[in-house]
Amino acid sequence: MEECIFCKIVNKQLPAEIIYEDAEILAFRDIQPAAPIHILIIPKKHIKSLIEIEKEDEITIGKIYGIINSIAEEQGVKEKGYRVIVNCGRDGGQEVPHLHFHLLAGKTLGEKIV
Ligand code: 5GP
Ligand code: ZN
Repeated sequence: MEECIFCKIVNKQLPAEIIYEDAEILAFRDIQPAAPIHILIIPKKHIKSLIEIEKEDEITIGKIYGIINSIAEEQGVKEKGYRVIVNCGRDGGQEVPHLHFHLLAGKTLGEKIV
């Protein structure tokens, strides 16, 4: 998926401030932060959205939540809390078609929908 910007970040063709990396998962700061801490956590595999995950991806998706917790701890926000958002598809407002988890923290996050 050469035209995908997040694949390009995975392949180091585009720069990003990387927070965490292993064989399957990458985390980097969002270019337009919506909170003092705004980190995107992605599977390195090009999965278009949550709708597209396959059985074989489920372990990676589970690991992502563990990594989110570790990052929150490292960033010093585990006590105060944080929010994880996954926009999915058109109605979900997804703009980048490579599955990503937004980790938002560092302020009281307003505008709760649920
Ligand atoms: P979505 O709306 O698809 O859930 O979120 C896409 C996110 O990716 C947005 O918050 C946007 O700021 C971020 N983003 C888009 N392009 C880039 C980029 O080239 N680098 C980084 N680090 N973030 C990006
Ligand atoms: Zn991609």
